[in-house]
Amino acid sequence: MVKPGEKVAVAVSGGKDSLSLLHLLAGKAEELGIEIVGILVDEGIRGYREVKLEAARRYADKLNVELVVNSFKGIFGFTLDEAVQALLLDGFRYKPCTVCGVLRRYALNQIALDLGVDKLATAHNLDDEVQAFLLNALQSNLSVAAREGPLSEKVHMKLVPRIKPFYFVPEKEVMIYALLNGIESPFVECPYIVYSLRHVLRKWLNQTASNNNPSLKHRIMFLKTKLTKHFTRQTEFKTCKICGMPSSRDTCKACEFKNYVTSLLERDKLF
Ligand code: SF4
Ligand code: ZN
Repeated sequence: MVKPGEKVAVAVSGGKDSLSLLHLLAGKAEELGIEIVGILVDEGIRGYREVKLEAARRYADKLNVELVVNSFKGIFGFTLDEAVQALLLDGFRYKPCTVCGVLRRYALNQIALDLGVDKLATAHNLDDEVQAFLLNALQSNLSVAAREGPLSEKVHMKLVPRIKPFYFVPEKEVMIYALLNGIESPFVECPYIVYSLRHVLRKWLNQTASNNNPSLKHRIMFLKTKLTKHFTRQTEFKTCKICGMPSSRDTCKACEFKNYVTSLLERDKLF
């Protein structure tokens, strides 16, 4: 996943998974000949983000790793809390996680680009991948569902290649790694998780897997791996007419959400 001499940004949320990844890569940096920097996106979620941010700062300091922080407010002009208020008043056409996921992905890439790193490492584990695969499959996005693997190639100058070192590691095992290494993170959940279908799916998968189906998640992952062979990653891009980033459409999804939320905030004079 990495080559000697590369600079790797680790996407840190402050949760156990991302702190474990930071621990793993920081501990292996010398052996692998790589340089590590942590990056964190502050979405602006009151009661949740500040707690996790503090945990991330403390742990990065302990490991002596620089942590670069930027926020939705700084990049898009509003916090997620503000966006959710506006979305609610407009009939919740988009759920918080849909907007948050697109904007965070964009922001992480932007920060990684600005830092000039070679790779962006995320802590997605096997459970995350299985959930994402099923969610996309349920929405008939089979090509999206199948194509994201543990390592993405460089397909565009402005897209930082992503690596997922925990791709084949179940969530429970990452948890054990965290426990064995004394990695702690305060237990606080994002308040918007209740609106996400992923939350329901995660519960169902865990329950079904523990009811005499211990290999369920691995079998779904196997199916994903098999399907992946039939889909190629997008290599032809348009250029977003607003931000200039590569996109499959004339306007990228992040700019579309940014404009939509901004227009709602202005219309409702919310903030
Ligand atoms: Fe964002 Fe949803 Fe995760 Fe909350 S649960 S941080 S809204 S993706
Ligand atoms: Zn754009």
